[in-house]
Amino acid sequence: MNSIQFHKAKITNLIQETPNVKRFVLTFPFEISFKAGQFVMLKFEGLNHQFDTRSYSIAGQINASSIELCVVYKEDGAATPLLFNNKIGDELLSSSPEGRFVLPEEPINKNLFFICTGTGVAPFRCMIKELLLERNHKLPVRLFFGCRKREDLLYQSEFEQLQMDYPNFSYLPVLSRESWDGLTGYVHPHYQKVLETTADALFYLCGWTEMIKETRDNIKNLGYTRQDIKVEFYD
Ligand SMILES: Cc1cc2nc3c(=O)[nH]c(=O)nc-3n(C[C@H](O)[C@H](O)[C@H](O)COP(=O)(O)OP(=O)(O)OC[C@H]3O[C@@H](n4cnc5c(N)ncnc54)[C@H](O)[C@@H]3O)c2cc1C
Repeated sequence: MNSIQFHKAKITNLIQETPNVKRFVLTFPFEISFKAGQFVMLKFEGLNHQFDTRSYSIAGQINASSIELCVVYKEDGAATPLLFNNKIGDELLSSSPEGRFVLPEEPINKNLFFICTGTGVAPFRCMIKELLLERNHKLPVRLFFGCRKREDLLYQSEFEQLQMDYPNFSYLPVLSRESWDGLTGYVHPHYQKVLETTADALFYLCGWTEMIKETRDNIKNLGYTRQDIKVEFYD
């Protein structure tokens, strides 16, 4: 932990994406490269908590020296109320990108399932764009994205556009607390239904522990192994 280097990064844009989620654009004084799926650690000096760092997945690259984070406000949290107090022009302390929750470098000959809730969609935004826009991946890519209400959907128009542009990409938002003409309830029955008729899959799961553990158990019960299931826990 002590060996991690922190760099000053300026907040150069802030977007209120949903009522409780903000997108933070961080600009470093140097070019920054990362692999889709990686995260940075932000250091909160003087934080009234055992740990003064918090990790945030990289949700996008804005330009050579700027990345985007997508953070949900936690009312009783130690760090997010401080983070949300920042304005454009303020500086944060950020590590370089790190983490091994990334896509395999070789071509992927499997059906891809990205399953998340809330801001767990952040690393998937980078991974899915890399697959579709850069790697020319042609096999099915499905994003099951659980949230409570329509107002909580993140990057909605962007994912809808990707679905229109790339026929192998399915954007499958699932709302748990609002009825609409899309999928409802929890994500589990929805990916399970697809898996009844789909073999040879690779899974990426991201978000809060409870959802990930349940999903992982369900997938393992279908005969998939650890190698087939990549996870990133947010808590
Ligand atoms: C790899 C990773 C990526 C993440 N990406 C995102 C993201 O893109 N968007 C998002 O909204 N959230 C993300 N999170 C969650 C985020 O790091 C914070 O936990 C969240 O913002 C709440 O922080 P808080 O201080 O407000 O809440 P708090 O409740 O005060 O803290 C959050 C919890 O994390 C634990 N914790 C915090 N830091 C450490 C540490 N260094 N080591 C061990 N435990 C620790 C605390 O004990 C506490 O239980 C990610 C977490 C991880 C691990």
